[in-house]
Amino acid sequence: MSRALVLSSGCPVRPGFGLPGRGAGPWGSCRGPRERLRSAGLNPNLITRLAPIRVRAGLLKESASPMATVVMKFGGTSVANIERIQNVARHVKREVDAGNKVAVVVSAMSGVTNQLVAWVKDASPLYDAREYDAVVATGEQVTAGLLAITLQGMGLRARSWTGWQVPIKTNAAHGTARITEIPGAQIKKAIEGGEIAVVTGFQGIEPLEKRISTLGRGGSDTSAVAIAVALEADVCDIYTDVDGVYTTDPRIVPKARRLAKISYEEMLEMASLGSKVLQTRSVELAMVYKVRTRVLSSFVAPDGMKAFSPDNIEDIGTIVCDEDEIVEQQVVSGIAYAKDEAKVTLLKVDDKPGVAARIFGPLADANINVDMIVQNVGADGKHTDMTFTVQAAELTRAIDVLKKAKADIGHFDIKSSADIVKISVIGVGMRSHAGVAAQMFKVLSEKGINIHAISTSEIKVSVLIEAAYAELAVRALHSAYGLDND
Ligand code: ASP
Ligand code: MG
Repeated sequence: MSRALVLSSGCPVRPGFGLPGRGAGPWGSCRGPRERLRSAGLNPNLITRLAPIRVRAGLLKESASPMATVVMKFGGTSVANIERIQNVARHVKREVDAGNKVAVVVSAMSGVTNQLVAWVKDASPLYDAREYDAVVATGEQVTAGLLAITLQGMGLRARSWTGWQVPIKTNAAHGTARITEIPGAQIKKAIEGGEIAVVTGFQGIEPLEKRISTLGRGGSDTSAVAIAVALEADVCDIYTDVDGVYTTDPRIVPKARRLAKISYEEMLEMASLGSKVLQTRSVELAMVYKVRTRVLSSFVAPDGMKAFSPDNIEDIGTIVCDEDEIVEQQVVSGIAYAKDEAKVTLLKVDDKPGVAARIFGPLADANINVDMIVQNVGADGKHTDMTFTVQAAELTRAIDVLKKAKADIGHFDIKSSADIVKISVIGVGMRSHAGVAAQMFKVLSEKGINIHAISTSEIKVSVLIEAAYAELAVRALHSAYGLDND
């Protein structure tokens, strides 16, 4: 595969991308590449700035050296103690010994970020977000230093890089900052010169005030993809404690299968639906830049794996890639479930123009994310019921906001329940196959499971059901769509 060819097409302007009706979900937008880039936290102008560089670099790479540039990211459980860090170092050594150029992105040791966050909250419930970042970013600095030391102890050349040293520039949204730019020249020079760059995940710098920033929980995945973009890497390998992305949660369905490949869009749906393998933003970024991102386990013995080369990328793990790369595409690729949802129903609201705006406006102003929305047709033509879901953690706040807005909204009674789950069937094959939703409803009805709400997108059908039926529903759907591994 020629990297230059893939990337010179730059942003994903493939047919249909960003056209109306091809959005990520009913409340996801149908965004163009620039907008996606913006929401993925990058400067939209980066597309044009990076594209020509990629072409040149790709051509050079092909003629000068067959070796690959590899970004390896290790999550918290993979660096949980010195022994695990030594294990990571052996994974890195394998790549270096094969001649690959390596940048490593590390998370904090598992549990460390939680501890740091807890300390901040103990210190003052009303903390300054910039100081929060100063504190919680430290976990990654410890790991980066320890890994560099370990690599040096194995006779390898390595150095640590913090967010400000790279620099990984971000906006000023402390605690959930977005990467705006990574000038990759320095770090690139280091790895071209044969040094291993060990980069702190999760953190960056806000260049105006020169303050440390962090990217939100799970943000090291996004750091890794962004570094892969900056280095024009051949692959972004995300090492974690699972050996890939599964058709559903293997703890619920022992017959769940590891997927060899999954498209960016499917992975986005999975990630946003509570499958916590990758931070959603990292997938958006990978999709925009077409970074081949691979999920694989650090718990496999380091010498039991081959070093990366473009022709063995499919041998192990799950590749998150463009759907065009997936030859044997199933209609349905996976079943996801989200437990942390809550349902709110407003009964007997006026059925007239402006009511929905008066309900959802204040929720949006309060930064409460609303997911599924169902509005019934009012039987008497005057009133209707409105049902929607929010994150369970925000239920109390949502009800509060609605009660405060009551004068504006007009009359309503309110009912809510956190005892529900959202089950989703996901697959890009749905674009060309009818009947996926009908089959889902049939399977659920055969099990006597009642559906409270339904929403669909082009590649997903979601239903809301009672929490007690979650596992039964996931198992039944998994086998109905032929996903069982038997
Ligand atoms: N250490 C950070 C967290 O726990 C970032 C990461 O691990 O991705 O959220
Ligand atoms: Mg993670």
